[in-house]
Amino acid sequence: MSAEIIDGKAFAARIRGEVGSHVARLKQEHGIVPGLAVVLVGEDPASQVYVRNKGKQTVEAGMHSEEHRMDASVSEAEVIAMVERLNADPKIHGILVQLPLPSHMNSEIVINTISPAKDVDGFHISNVGLLGTGQKSMVPCTPLGCLMMLRDRFGSLSGQNAVVVGRSNIVGKPMFNLLLRDSATVTVAHSRTRDIEAVCRGADILVAAVGRPEMIRGDWVKPGATVIDVGINRVPAPEKGEGKHRIVGDCHFESCAEVAGAITPVPGGVGPMTIACLLANTLTACCRANRLPEPE
Ligand code: NDP
Repeated sequence: MSAEIIDGKAFAARIRGEVGSHVARLKQEHGIVPGLAVVLVGEDPASQVYVRNKGKQTVEAGMHSEEHRMDASVSEAEVIAMVERLNADPKIHGILVQLPLPSHMNSEIVINTISPAKDVDGFHISNVGLLGTGQKSMVPCTPLGCLMMLRDRFGSLSGQNAVVVGRSNIVGKPMFNLLLRDSATVTVAHSRTRDIEAVCRGADILVAAVGRPEMIRGDWVKPGATVIDVGINRVPAPEKGEGKHRIVGDCHFESCAEVAGAITPVPGGVGPMTIACLLANTLTACCRANRLPEPE
């Protein structure tokens, strides 16, 4: 293996530490405590784990944390009423509605009910439009975490050839916009892209957000490229015992690490950055709400 391993866990711990120090100063100098509310509808086990971790890390950063659990059978109107209550609550600066929502609800309608200023996931249509037009917005946490790691490595991304594999609204498209805003030359590849291997081989920066376990192999990677693997895929791991699983990324780690200059591991790469960015976004939202200087 020749690639440097980008330690997302350590990076995320650093960000959380910086957020925590800023929160302590806000409290001391202005008596303000940033607040994050998470709304969880239903019993999805993965969502429950995410929400628990979010709550724990929010409290560790010195913020106010609220969890609103609602039964899977509640109506869309009841979830909207909850969001509207949180919109009006001055203790709350960030609202996150955990996705996916039960199938009888329209996620877009619910998300677009969140006040754009409190939309710390950056999924409200106003924030999507602001980001797309290069204006100040709330930025989705996972692509923001990827951008932070890339800026840390490259300094300036200007002129770098970036390829994003995946065009989802939550990862691929905002990643495209963030890289473009930093003056990279960006190609977005997807399931209809022709000769995707060759497209990927042109990348100085390769971001994989596909949801296909280990799809991207070492021979798709340009020697020395930086590979950011967003994928989180559960695959059977019979070597660990019957019915056991392990988590792999969208990149085949061993072969990509032979060729890349740097690569994020899965787990321990992009994943931990997502919650760190959620805390950073909540702090930013709180500073904006109180007309105080924003964190860098
Ligand atoms: P989506 O399923 O919404 O999007 C996947 C994208 O990959 C689509 O644009 C699709 O193309 C493209 N794609 C699928 N198959 C291929 C293929 N064979 N070749 C090329 N492109 C393909 O996924 P998400 O964006 O939500 O998530 C992507 C991955 O990131 C998942 O593994 C997810 O678990 C992970 N994730 C991790 C997070 C974290 O915190 N680290 C947060 C969010 C997601 P098309 O549009 O043409 O169908």
